[in-house]
Amino acid sequence: MKFLFFPMPAHGHVNPMLPLIQELVSRGDEVVVYVTREFEAAIRHTGASLRLLDDSLGIPPSFAGMPGLAGGSGQAMKKAMPLLMGLMRRSLHATPRLVEQARAEQADCVVYDPMAVWGRSAGKMLGLPAAIFQTSFGLSHSPTIQNAMRANMKGPPPPSALLAIGRLLLTSEVMHWRHGMPRMNPQSAFTSVEDLNIIPVPRAYQPDAGNFDDRFLFVGPSVLPRNDRGDFPLERLEGKPVLLISLGTTPMNMRPDFYKTCFEAFRDTRWQVVMACGKGLDPATLGPAPSNVLVRQHVPQLEVLERARVFLTHGGMNSTMEGLWHGVPLAVFPQFADQPLNASRVTGLGLGTTLSAQDALDPKALRETIERLDTDPGYRTRLAEFQKELREAGGHRRAADALQKFAAARRGGARQKAA
Ligand code: UDP
Repeated sequence: MKFLFFPMPAHGHVNPMLPLIQELVSRGDEVVVYVTREFEAAIRHTGASLRLLDDSLGIPPSFAGMPGLAGGSGQAMKKAMPLLMGLMRRSLHATPRLVEQARAEQADCVVYDPMAVWGRSAGKMLGLPAAIFQTSFGLSHSPTIQNAMRANMKGPPPPSALLAIGRLLLTSEVMHWRHGMPRMNPQSAFTSVEDLNIIPVPRAYQPDAGNFDDRFLFVGPSVLPRNDRGDFPLERLEGKPVLLISLGTTPMNMRPDFYKTCFEAFRDTRWQVVMACGKGLDPATLGPAPSNVLVRQHVPQLEVLERARVFLTHGGMNSTMEGLWHGVPLAVFPQFADQPLNASRVTGLGLGTTLSAQDALDPKALRETIERLDTDPGYRTRLAEFQKELREAGGHRRAADALQKFAAARRGGARQKAA
């Protein structure tokens, strides 16, 4: 069987698909993955084949000309909207050529992240069975999430965002008539549904889970080594209480104010801090780091989590799941998108706590929160229970079983129709 995978070329979207891709390859399937050069090594490591996408289809490490983008989830999202709409529009223009390339692969099945708009088009335009791999909660049937997302936006989009949405809709219409591409709007990047939808969170974590029928498979996260250690000095963490601090990989991680507060909060404490400040910031601009704080733009997160006692995270879905998978209590300082939701899920389940913007920028409050997470045994007891839930969800093996069955049934159906 031959699968074409279309992730959104961003760490938070490629990473959760890697174990499934690796699993299919190990079962003897042929897998072709469309990504930007940044993810070449990660894909090669799975054994899959790779087709390179233009770098302009990826999320840039920083949004040039938009200082102060981060800070305050609703405002940040509103400011980012025109940029995201622009990215989607570029994606629409790139799609026809990409789909023609994909046609030559003569594949059996397409697997796409709805944010990779070319993936959705590929399934439809090639007439292939298509499955969705979500990289966050299921959104389509969850009023709780839709309402929370709306509330997080704090009011209607600004005129610049409305204009960008209008241009996107116009482009989509033109591409539909010219190339037969399925129409798209900003919502379809989140709420598209296929006959098989793989969701990498456990059912117990999904709000309104009862609304999702059996087209939705809640397989939970899959965490496998990613071989991305590079020259990171893991040995410096040995025997020390490790605190990992990361606000993820999107430009919303550009929070020098927060990183400098962390320096103050943990200077001369028992903690060995590992801080990932993101590729949009030069660590040198933060000033000299205390001797117990190791700052890098990007760190091997899974290997650090294996050694961590507490994780101070933005609450991206992958970071949240990876932290919980390793049984590490989370202090969540959400920035935008699904992060406030993860913060409230984690807090509600007693697996960590939410940091307000005020506390996250107050060294004393920050330090006390981290100490409490580490020393209150209730967190680790609940985490151990939740870890069972995560492992029992089935992960990449269950996803691969479902995908193989889905593709085989559809291929059989198509043959019968043709006969
Ligand atoms: N990540 C990493 N090293 C870093 C920062 C992030 O390996 O220094 C990985 C992390 O393990 C996760 C992904 O990048 O798999 C980030 O995804 P997430 O959904 O947490 O956040 P996003 O970056 O999409 O906001």
